[in-house]
Amino acid sequence: MTKKKLATVWLGGCSGCHMSLLDIDERILEVIKLADIVKCPIVDGKEFPEVDVALVEGSVTSDEHLHEIQLIRKRAKLLIAFGDCAVTSNVTGMRNYFSKDEVFNYAYIQAVSNDKQGKTPNHPALLKLQEKVVPLQEVVDVDFVIPGCPPSADTIFYVLFEFLNGRVPDLSQERKLKYG
Ligand code: SF4
Repeated sequence: MTKKKLATVWLGGCSGCHMSLLDIDERILEVIKLADIVKCPIVDGKEFPEVDVALVEGSVTSDEHLHEIQLIRKRAKLLIAFGDCAVTSNVTGMRNYFSKDEVFNYAYIQAVSNDKQGKTPNHPALLKLQEKVVPLQEVVDVDFVIPGCPPSADTIFYVLFEFLNGRVPDLSQERKLKYG
């Protein structure tokens, strides 16, 4: 079987879903027999490549995320919302209870910091926050979702292994269908 191309992406999330991916431990060897990991948070390619499968952690919180997920949608045959933040906005979406300006002021101006000057919304180091955080399916078509905060390593491996072998995973079993 031809090796597939796999990407993992970190948008508005805490990286906990990627930590859970790392918890598949030695089973990563099974994954890399089936797929080359051509993009992930530690593969610093500047361009997002054409891939067979993209696992996307986190919600869309900024203009940069929106641009990135739209590009990923164009270049990925299969786009998987990876974890509750990608599926429902979850923890990242809690900022939707407040206005963007309130959140920004609290995080970058009022909060205790060693940066005495604070930051302005136009600071080049900061993403351009959107007014509301949204899950992936509000801005692009999503082909499959993996629930969980984070999803278990067993579930992540199961989903990857099935797709990379040309099968559609069945998450209907109770232990594999868990939000939160
Ligand atoms: S779903 Fe949970 S573990 Fe994954 S990015 Fe969101 S908060 Fe972190």
